[in-house]
Amino acid sequence: MSVSKKKRGELIVLSGPSGVGKSTVISELLSSRRDIHFSVSFTTRQPRTGEEDGVNYNFVSREEFERMIADQELLEYAEYVGNYYGTSLKVIRDKLEQGVDVLLDIEVQGAAKVQERCPEAVLIFLIPPSIEELSRRLHRRNTDAEEVIQLRLEKARQECRECVHYDYLVVNDTVMDAAQEILSILQAELCRTQNRLHLAQSIIGQD
Ligand code: 5GP
Repeated sequence: MSVSKKKRGELIVLSGPSGVGKSTVISELLSSRRDIHFSVSFTTRQPRTGEEDGVNYNFVSREEFERMIADQELLEYAEYVGNYYGTSLKVIRDKLEQGVDVLLDIEVQGAAKVQERCPEAVLIFLIPPSIEELSRRLHRRNTDAEEVIQLRLEKARQECRECVHYDYLVVNDTVMDAAQEILSILQAELCRTQNRLHLAQSIIGQD
C-alpha cells in the first residue's frame, strides 16, 4: 500500500426502490455536502411534472440511448420498467480524476455493474420502513397509474432482496435521519486507513 495523498474522488452509489424517497434524501445530503457531484443520468422515460431536462435527468430518445450504448459512452445502464437509464462514463471519470466525490442514484442492476467495474465504490441501499409505507408513498406521489405502482411495488420487493450485495443499509424512516446516517458512512469511508496514510507519512516515513 503506497503512502501517497488520496487524489481520486470517492464513487458513491445509492440504490433503493422507486418511491423510497431517494431524491429527497439526496437533496438533504447535498445541502450538507455541496462538494459532492450528483451524476445526472440519461433516460428514455418521459419527464414527470416538475422535472427538468439536464437537472433531474438528461431525457433522450431510445435511438440516442442505443447510440450511446453502441459507442460505449456509459459506465453502466439498465432497462427499468420499460425504459433505459444510464450513467455517463466521461463525466464520472473526469470528476473522480479531479478528486471530486460523485454520487450515483441508480437501480440494482446498474449498481452491480458499477461494483464490477469500480470495486472501490461505496454502495449504500436505502429501504423503506415497510412495504405498506412504500405503497403509501408511491400513491401519495400521484405520478403513476395504479398499474405502474403495482409493477413498482413488485419490483421493489425484488430489488430489496439485492441489498445484501451493498456495503451499507439505511432505513428511510425520516429524511433527516437517513441523510445523517449516509453522512456518517461517508465520514467513516474518509477515515479508512488507505485514504489517510498520507497523514501518517511524517511519522512512519516513506519508502
Ligand atoms: P425513476 O423513473 O423513478 O426516476 O427511476 C427509476 C429507477 O431508475 C430508480 O431506481 C433510479 O435509481 C434508477 N436510475 C436512475 N438513473 C439511473 C442510471 O443512470 N442507471 C441505472 N442503472 N439506474 C438509474
